[in-house]
Amino acid sequence: MSTGTIESLGITPEKITQYDQRIPRYTSYPTAPFWRSDFTWEEWRAHLDGSAGTNSPFSLYVHVPFCEKHCLFCACNVIITPKKEVAEDYLGWLEKEIALTASHFRGEGEANWLHLGGGTPNYLNVDQLQRLVTILKDHFRFAADAERSIEIDPRLASPEQVAAYHDLLGFRRISFGVQDFHAETQSAIGRGQTREITFANVASARAAGFRSVNIDLIYGLPRQSTESWSETLDAICELRPDRIALYNFAFLPTKLAHQRALSNEALPPAELKLEMFIEAHNRLTAAGWEFIGMDHYALREDSLTKAQEAGSLRRNFMGYTTLRGSDMLAFGTSAISDFRSGFAQNTKKLSQYKKALSEGIVPVEHGMILSEDDRLRQFVIEELMCNGALRYTSQRGFSEEVFRELVTAARERLEPLAEDGLVTLDDDALRVTRKGRIFLRNIAVVFDSYFHRAQEKKIIFSRAV
Ligand code: SF4
Repeated sequence: MSTGTIESLGITPEKITQYDQRIPRYTSYPTAPFWRSDFTWEEWRAHLDGSAGTNSPFSLYVHVPFCEKHCLFCACNVIITPKKEVAEDYLGWLEKEIALTASHFRGEGEANWLHLGGGTPNYLNVDQLQRLVTILKDHFRFAADAERSIEIDPRLASPEQVAAYHDLLGFRRISFGVQDFHAETQSAIGRGQTREITFANVASARAAGFRSVNIDLIYGLPRQSTESWSETLDAICELRPDRIALYNFAFLPTKLAHQRALSNEALPPAELKLEMFIEAHNRLTAAGWEFIGMDHYALREDSLTKAQEAGSLRRNFMGYTTLRGSDMLAFGTSAISDFRSGFAQNTKKLSQYKKALSEGIVPVEHGMILSEDDRLRQFVIEELMCNGALRYTSQRGFSEEVFRELVTAARERLEPLAEDGLVTLDDDALRVTRKGRIFLRNIAVVFDSYFHRAQEKKIIFSRAV
């Protein structure tokens, strides 16, 4: 079933503006600003020790924070350095962290997904990446059909390297940061990635046999215009990536100092950003991509689309996934583990990361262990965001009555959303409509029991649409 254009869904620009509030993205619940800042490695270690006897599958994530130059729009946790020798040193520390964590991992499950993100994973050369994969395999059991995916900066990748990621290292999914094809925008954001570089990388990935190619795009960047954005979408339709992440640019100069350099640039006004979002959504859905939700599009034949249709889609810190189980053990600076109803995030500072590891401690900076109520709301939010329905049946250890009571308690806040056609309050389930998929964050926030404290804690979330 096609997602439909914004107009065919009955969504007006005014409605989008009304719902475009500052709300969490819910890559986790509870969201990170509400985790404990005094959470320690000792607590996390005990939590890992408690995983004995479980055999559910889990994912592995490694964060490679290095980049040669700061792209001015970027909001990732990065370390900017031209010194390539940092990569070898970092690998040594990663090995210590992986060994320490693995020594407390008591689960019997297998790793069914490895994802390398950043920063720039291909800051590590092919030999270093191979060593990283070997270290992980030495400490965790991998499922025979485990997925491997990698984020790539196309400006640093040669066709030979892309082939090696596939043939030598076993990666089958690859993601390229592009943002926009317009040369003036590329120059304004300090990235300078040409159309030729992107096309050559995607061609190399296809030739190497990658099963899935993802491209990240951003609207709301400097010097974007209606015409330039339309050309970017032309290029995307020509490249036909399997998946597209389409983000709204978050300009946060008070929080991200490097973004201040964009202050004198022509940032598109709110109305133009809205136009760009609507055009992108309409063109992508007309050209064969389904809107999965939360900025993500996938071709109709892609496994994400199929999993959503089957009601088995899941979500973790890396976005949507088709894999069973959303547990993830993560390594590297700023990496976030989401394991057996607990979160732990490492320090973002490389010096602190190394110091803690030299003392035999994994540098956990904040985190939390979820309460029963947290777990219930986490499941509800995930179901609504991934599969578009909360069915009133016993699942995940919660009874039908518990789900009914939660929805009844939220009824006053859900009714206006139902009147706007975003949800339906059916006898057997709370359902998200196709129109509601555009406003998933506005629906999820109804079940967030921490959100009311955001103002008092002065937390600024990004915009919902
Ligand atoms: S290469 Fe990617 S992670 Fe690094 S600064 Fe640019 S956008 Fe951010």
